[in-house]
Amino acid sequence: MIDIPYSTQSITEADIAAVVDVLRSPYLTQGPKIEAFERAIAELHDTAHAVAVCNATAALHIACMALDLGPNDRLWTSPISFVASANCGRYCGAKVDFVDIDPVTRNISVEVLADKLAAAERDGTLPKIVVPVDFGGFPVDMAAIRELADTYGFAIVEDASHAVGAQYRDRPVGQGADITILSFHPVKIVTTGEGGVAMTDDEGLASRLRLLRSHGVTRDPAQIERQDEGGWYYEQVTLGYNYRMTDLQAALGLSQLERLPELWAARERLSRRYDEKLAGLPLFTPPRAGDKQSAHHLYPIEIDPARSNVSRRALFDALREDGIGANVHYIPIHLQPDYRRLGFGSGDFPAAEEYYRRAVTIPLYPALTDAQQDRVIESLSRTLG
Ligand SMILES: *Cc1c(COP(=O)(O)O)cnc(C)c1O
Repeated sequence: MIDIPYSTQSITEADIAAVVDVLRSPYLTQGPKIEAFERAIAELHDTAHAVAVCNATAALHIACMALDLGPNDRLWTSPISFVASANCGRYCGAKVDFVDIDPVTRNISVEVLADKLAAAERDGTLPKIVVPVDFGGFPVDMAAIRELADTYGFAIVEDASHAVGAQYRDRPVGQGADITILSFHPVKIVTTGEGGVAMTDDEGLASRLRLLRSHGVTRDPAQIERQDEGGWYYEQVTLGYNYRMTDLQAALGLSQLERLPELWAARERLSRRYDEKLAGLPLFTPPRAGDKQSAHHLYPIEIDPARSNVSRRALFDALREDGIGANVHYIPIHLQPDYRRLGFGSGDFPAAEEYYRRAVTIPLYPALTDAQQDRVIESLSRTLG
C-alpha cells in the first residue's frame, strides 16, 4: 500500500469554511470571490492583471488565442513538461516544436534556444510563441529569453504552473513574459480544486483573455457595436469559451493564499533536508541558484550513471514496494504517440531523453513529516547505497 504519496493537497478547516460561506452566498460563480482572488494573485506576482479560469490548460489555450496564434504559426516549448504546455499550440492549429533542456536546470536551454532561433530565421520558420516552463518551480532564465524575444519578435507565455510564489532576481515570477500561467490543481503549490490563471501587464491582452474565457460575450460599451439597445443587451464580439472559475474555487484559493508563506516554507525546509541527506548518494538533486528561488513544486532526482548502474525502473519499483508514491516528471512530450504521429521520435531532444531515462520524483508536500521523509531517504539509500 502506498502510504506516502508523491504530492497531496493541504486543506484546513479555514479552507472548508471559506467554501461553505460561498455556498450560503448569492453567487456560486461570477461573484465577488473571483475578483478578490484575481487581485490577490496579481498582487502576489506583481502583475497588473490576473484572469482566473477553470484550469491552467484553458489559460494556456486562451493565452495563445489572445496572442493570435493561428494555423500558419509555430509554438515552441520544453519537452520536459506536462503535455498541456504543447497542446495549447495545437488547439490553435499551430505547429508545435520543442527546445531541448539544460541538463542542470532541466528548463529549456537558452543556448539551444538561441541556436534554434538563428537557424529558424534563416529558414523563415521562427516561432510566434515560446512557452518556457519553470520546471519543478525553478524559474527559467527570463532575462535571456526576453532578450531573444525582442531580437526575434516572438511572444513569451511562461508556464509557471509549478512556480506560484517562486522568485527570479528577487522578484516574483510573472515579470518579463507577455502572459504568465499558473495552475491550481490539487498537487500544485496552492489549489482551487481545478483552476488556473493568466497574468499580464498588458491591458489589451487582459481584456482579450477576459472575453475568451466567457464565450466572447461582453456588455462593455467600449467593445460592443450597438449602443442603447437596453439593459439586457450583450454582444458576442469574438468566438470564446466557457472557461470560467467558480466562486467556490476562488474562495478556496483565497483561503489557501493566506497560508502561502507557510506552505512555501515547509517545501523549502523539506527540500533542504533532502538536499543534505541525499548528498552522499549517486544521484543529482534539483537545481539551486542564487538569483532563482524555486517554489519546490516537485523534487525530481536523477540517478548519476557515472556512479550507479541501478536503473530508474528498479529504483521506482523499490520505492513503490516500500509504500512510497514515487512518480516520474515527465515522459518527454515529443515521445507521446500523439506527437510521434506528427513526426517526432527518439533522439530528437537528447538531453530531455537522457534526463527522462534516469529521473524519479520523490514525495514533497507541506504535510510530509520528517519521519516519512526519512523513510523515503532510507529506501533510496537501500537501493542506491
Ligand atoms: C499542471 C500543469 C499544467 C496544467 O494544469 P491544469 O490546471 O491541470 O490544467 C500545465 N503545465 C504544467 C507544467 C503543469 O504542471
